[in-house]
Amino acid sequence: MDALDVGVVGCGTAGAAVAMFLARAGHRVTVYERVAEPRPVGAGVTLQPTGQAVLARLGLLAPILDCAARIDRLHAVRHGGRTLVDLRYADVDRRRFGLGLHRGTLFSTLYDAVRREPGVTVRLDAAVTGVEHGSDGITIRGVAGALGRHDLAVAADGSVSELHATAGVPVRAREYPWGALWFVADDPDRIFRDELYQVVRGARRMYGVLPTGRGPERDTPVVSLFWSIRTDDHVRWLDAGLAAWKPEVLGFDRRAGFVLDQITDPSQVVLARYRDVRMTRWHGDRVVFLGDAAHAMSPQLGQGVNLALWDAMVFADAIAAAPALPAALAAYSRDRRRHLRHYQFMTRTLTPMFQSSSRVLGWLRDRFMPLGDRIGPIHRLMVRTMIGLEQGVVRAPLQLPG
Ligand SMILES: Cc1cc2nc3c(=O)[nH]c(=O)nc-3n(C[C@H](O)[C@H](O)[C@H](O)COP(=O)(O)OP(=O)(O)OC[C@H]3O[C@@H](n4cnc5c(N)ncnc54)[C@H](O)[C@@H]3O)c2cc1C
Repeated sequence: MDALDVGVVGCGTAGAAVAMFLARAGHRVTVYERVAEPRPVGAGVTLQPTGQAVLARLGLLAPILDCAARIDRLHAVRHGGRTLVDLRYADVDRRRFGLGLHRGTLFSTLYDAVRREPGVTVRLDAAVTGVEHGSDGITIRGVAGALGRHDLAVAADGSVSELHATAGVPVRAREYPWGALWFVADDPDRIFRDELYQVVRGARRMYGVLPTGRGPERDTPVVSLFWSIRTDDHVRWLDAGLAAWKPEVLGFDRRAGFVLDQITDPSQVVLARYRDVRMTRWHGDRVVFLGDAAHAMSPQLGQGVNLALWDAMVFADAIAAAPALPAALAAYSRDRRRHLRHYQFMTRTLTPMFQSSSRVLGWLRDRFMPLGDRIGPIHRLMVRTMIGLEQGVVRAPLQLPG
């Protein structure tokens, strides 16, 4: 295929990664980012072996390893201490582990690299409002008019994508009724290490801590605390103040005291909302969807950044292998189908068991998950799902290099 002129909407995980892959393959890339001065924001994310493999291909894994926290297991327990699941990476492959890191660290690494990449132009303060199809190209539009005309538009602008309405690709999106409060705390003594630890009580209460490596913008180890909440309860939570909440959190994990001591005002604790985005295919005429814009889901399985990175790599490979753009777009949707369907199905099934008002779902989870975790093939399926490899029961898991 001849070199393409590509417009990428959004300079987050998927956008920065795909821009680098495409530029290195000889395409001309312009990235439109609505933020004027991008800064490292967010809390802890888990970089799974799938995401690590993509960063390694981009030559960016070494700086991430330097400041991330190694995660060897997901340990989820019921309030009171009985294990719900104990998923260790080594149970399927001794070479694999997760990395807990600040979303800002991942963002800064990708952003600095894409700014340095020859062949990529990053346009900041360029909020996209939609696209317009023409006979021989696609125009990316902003508030004040056309921003640029390209052979291909890549929608990588997150779960509330402006391209959902104008790309001509069917999409259904809704917000989950539950979200999470999060706070990033200094953990100089590394009280929390080696595992993502969660405590649940029914489906209404979930507490979690993820070691989050160093920084960004500070050199001490940090940890992210998560607390599940119905989003329409947030105002009530703010009004109730910290005095009511802190003892409840301590009841879930005594070790969290030093984290709670760092919270002196409810406004320090940020509410994260999630969306569920469904598409039957992830491409249209001269347009393709990647990352959260394509398939946002709740973070129950910790796959957001990993699926976004994998999308970017698969799409760049489809462009490299296909004789023409329409074939590459169709190949991308085909290649992503099984993997994405598995994670969307599992996330939609599991999320209400961990975050809902249902007594029955929490009860079922407490009875059946520990049983499944003790049955070898089911346990390994759960671990492979955590690693990011599963494609459903009828398809072989993804293979990682090395
Ligand atoms: C501010 C923020 C904080 C987050 N914090 C966490 C977290 O703490 N933990 C976690 O697990 N996940 C977090 N996420 C989600 C996680 O980053 C994504 O699941 C993952 O990065 C998927 O990558 P993506 O590239 O699809 O989307 P994102 O990483 O969300 O990137 C989308 C990019 O598009 C830009 N953009 C959006 N609209 C437009 C527009 N109209 N025009 C131009 N540019 C646009 C955004 O500014 C952003 O840079 C956060 C996302 C954001 C945006």
